[in-house]
Amino acid sequence: MVVVDFLPMSSVSPKTDQAAAWRAVLDRAVRDPAELCRLLSLPNSLAMAATAAADEFPLFVPRPYLERIRPGDPRDPLLLQVLPSEAERAQRPGFCADPLGEQSARRAPGLLWKYQNRLLIVTTGACGVHCRYCFRRHFPYRPTPDNWRSALEVIAAERSVHEVILSGGDPLLLDDDRLADLARRLAAIPHLRRIRLHTRLPVVVPQRVTDELLAWLRSTRLTPLLVIQANHPAELDASVATAIGRLVDAGVPVLNQSVLLRDVNDNVDVLAELSERLIDLRVMPYYLHQLDPVAGAAHFEVPEATGIKLIAQLRDRLPGYAVPRYVRETPGGSCKQPLV
Ligand SMILES: *Cc1c(COP(=O)(O)O)cnc(C)c1O
Ligand code: SF4
Repeated sequence: MVVVDFLPMSSVSPKTDQAAAWRAVLDRAVRDPAELCRLLSLPNSLAMAATAAADEFPLFVPRPYLERIRPGDPRDPLLLQVLPSEAERAQRPGFCADPLGEQSARRAPGLLWKYQNRLLIVTTGACGVHCRYCFRRHFPYRPTPDNWRSALEVIAAERSVHEVILSGGDPLLLDDDRLADLARRLAAIPHLRRIRLHTRLPVVVPQRVTDELLAWLRSTRLTPLLVIQANHPAELDASVATAIGRLVDAGVPVLNQSVLLRDVNDNVDVLAELSERLIDLRVMPYYLHQLDPVAGAAHFEVPEATGIKLIAQLRDRLPGYAVPRYVRETPGGSCKQPLV
């Protein structure tokens, strides 16, 4: 399968300075492995391996994220998340294109329904960064030409659904006008109570937290929640702290999910610092995900037994609220399965 719609589109002209600013950051993102290696003083051999590995899922790193990577260090935990490597070409039994069986959870174009009470809308295939371990890296994104009309019809007909999750890709790659319009149509469905966004953009491109975003999050009848993704404390620099502070000050609860990744965060000191840094920013650690067995990401896998030990060590060190739930997603499961 081929990723058809994974690059940010800048076809629409931004309406405000803030919107123009984050669009400009994405337009200037690094897409060429040779340029990345030059900017980070890394040997060109890494760029050659990256070019060979990246044909299906290209490199894409916005500069604010790049600035948090230590130059000259091929083992940097942020670099490892974004630089394609030779290891992606290795086949490993059990690692496949659709590890979660998402194609069978599709209820309407762009609508996934797996769990009771909440539904997920795949709003766009585009992302603000390409994470090499991504479980949706082979997801066959289809545009939703009907502007989510059939998805909204399914939601309106299902009174047991109380929450809609905007996911992707990354929903914050859509303009605030478009998101505000979607939120308005969702708010018109009486049984809906909450709107949740799953987004990595506040971490990767903190400029995305615009006044317009805060305005529609504040004004919707639905209770908003934001779930960000940070995997390492070095991702949470001062600019991210400011962006998240604006969200929390606007009254939006912010949670974090991480993926347990070999050589990135499979270490109790790193996980403890990540949790403490999140709590300092008023973000609650939510999930620590076991890696989904997606083809091309096998080299990131950490054994479950290791993950269980790490969580036990975190429990000894941190307040209970700072310890994320360690979970695995299984095809056909009724929820994310806790690993204990
Ligand atoms: C992960 C996921 C959710 C959200 O699960 P929570 O446990 O509520 O965070 C909902 N729908 C789908 C399809 C998902 O993959
Ligand atoms: S992990 Fe999230 S942000 Fe990263 S590529 Fe996948 S969908 Fe996009």
